[in-house]
Order: sequence, then structure tokens, then C-alpha cells
Amino acid sequence: MSSIQTARGPVGADELGNTLAHEHIITMTSMEYVANYRDDWNTDERIDQAVAALDEAKRLGVDTIFDCTVLGLGRYVPWIQRIAARTDMNIVMATGLYTYRDVPLMFHTVGPGLAIDIDEPMTPLFVNDLEKGIAGTDVRAAFLKCAIDEPGMTPGIERVMRAVARASVETGAPITVHTHPATRNGLDTQRVLREEGVDLTNVVIGHSGDSTDIDYLVELADAGSYLGMDRFGLGLGAPDRIATITTLIERGYLEQLVISHDAMCYTDFLPPGGLEALPDYNYRFIPTAVLPMMREAGITDEQIDTMFRLNPQRYITGRR
Ligand SMILES: [Zn+2]
Repeated sequence: MSSIQTARGPVGADELGNTLAHEHIITMTSMEYVANYRDDWNTDERIDQAVAALDEAKRLGVDTIFDCTVLGLGRYVPWIQRIAARTDMNIVMATGLYTYRDVPLMFHTVGPGLAIDIDEPMTPLFVNDLEKGIAGTDVRAAFLKCAIDEPGMTPGIERVMRAVARASVETGAPITVHTHPATRNGLDTQRVLREEGVDLTNVVIGHSGDSTDIDYLVELADAGSYLGMDRFGLGLGAPDRIATITTLIERGYLEQLVISHDAMCYTDFLPPGGLEALPDYNYRFIPTAVLPMMREAGITDEQIDTMFRLNPQRYITGRR
């Protein structure tokens, strides 16, 4: 059985156990903004808080989180190393880039056909994180992450997605994409990734659980990708995610479903105190509330085990 890189080093893929496939720990869309304008960041306190939240999830039966925090979301490996050293939770790290429209300004003039006309500079950064280590550490990312939101496949989004795709083709690392299912742009995502030669069975179309459009979800799944039913506890239109999962299981897609919250212990997406005002938006909601509701809805323990343990394990090892 292959080994998977975590923030504490490699772990046997079969030891990952119950896995939340799309979470965060600390997110800062702008570390500069937080440093200059927010008074709710204290590194030691926030690390203590994250350790406590992860330990609690571990006690509730979660063994691993896939931390989807990448460039643009405030990934900072020294914080994650400090957290990983103090919790038994496995933290699997990502590389890639998170934006909804444009490439970040540091890449605006650097790249193929631009003022500084060189090969795409993003791809080697991602490959380095996957193969050597993040920021000079020996902590390696195990998967790639990018995003497409309501603005759709803008030139900036397409450039990032193709850079991520090339890193995946080069390394074999799987990809998770933040998508905006209301505009069905998981399909645009699959088109671009397919054009780059990515194996779509190695891809999670993230936030698919925000949709109740079964035809759309089936079309994504028929192309081979996993569907991220990954925002349990976050309203966002409050769809009946369990009903959607039940329908997809009935239609034969059990082995392509992963579950998660997309939760975090700190964010600058919300004003100070904003996270605390969302009572179900944390790592506890699935083990304490969602799993009992699933059982009540007739989903079996074996089916839960497939979504919660086997599917993420198969995804992260890049094998189907
Ligand atoms: Zn996320």
C-alpha cells in the first residue's frame, strides 16, 4: 500500500482512516490584510484553538483531514507543522492556487507571451511542493487545488487550471477544484482538465453538494470524477445534501462521493467573530449530526464507510 504525505511525514494510505476530504485549518485570503487591519489574529492562541478543534474531531472518529488551503488562501507551513506536531489528526496538505477571476499580480507580467516571456512559472512551484517540500521544509503536498467560481472560466482561471493540470500530469497528484455548481461550471472544469490530459477519475469536483441538480451531478460523475459533498454545516442555500446523496447512491455513484464541511478555525473571509456565529460550521458536525441523519435516512454503515474512508483513500492514492 502506498504512503501518503502529511504535515507530519508519510503515512500508509490504509492508515488514513475516516477522512474529511475538503477542510481548512487557517485561511487568510490576504495575510497582509490580517497583519495590518485585523486584531483577531494571535498566532499562539490560534494554533492552540486549531489543535483543540482537530483533537476533538479525532475523538469523534475523524482520523484525517485534507487541508485544501493553497496560495491565495494563506497556506503557511510553519503554522501547520506546529499544529501537526501536537495533534493525532493526519493533515494532508495541498498545493495550487485559489482565485475567482484573475491570476495574482505577481504572475500578471510573468509567463508565456507576457512581458517576462518564460514558461508558466506556477507549474514548477506546484511540482516542487509535491515532490520536494513546501517552502524549504520536508513537508510535501499530496494533492492539487484550484478554483472556478461565479465569473466562470476567465482567462486567469483557465491559466491557473492549466498550470495545476500540468503539475498533476507531471506528478500523478490528484486535483480538487472549488466549483460553483449554480452555474454548472464543474463541466467547464472537466473540459479544461481533460484537454490537458488529466485523468478525470483523479479529480474531486468540489462543492457539488451545494447543488440538487441531479442531471448535472450525474453528468460530472459519468465523466469519472468524485463529487465533493463537502459543505455540511454551511448554509449556502441549505440544500438537503443527504437527500442528494441518497439519490446518487441509488443511481450507482456511491464510490464517487466524498464528504466534508469546508470548515476552518480562522478565516478573514468573515469579519471577526463571524465563524463563531455559524454553529454547525466545524469539524464536529458530520460525526455528531450528519452521520446519525444519514443512518436515519437509510444510508448503511458500509455506505458511510465507503464515502468517509475508502473513497478519500482511493482518491488521494490516485488509483481507482
Ligand atoms: Zn474550501
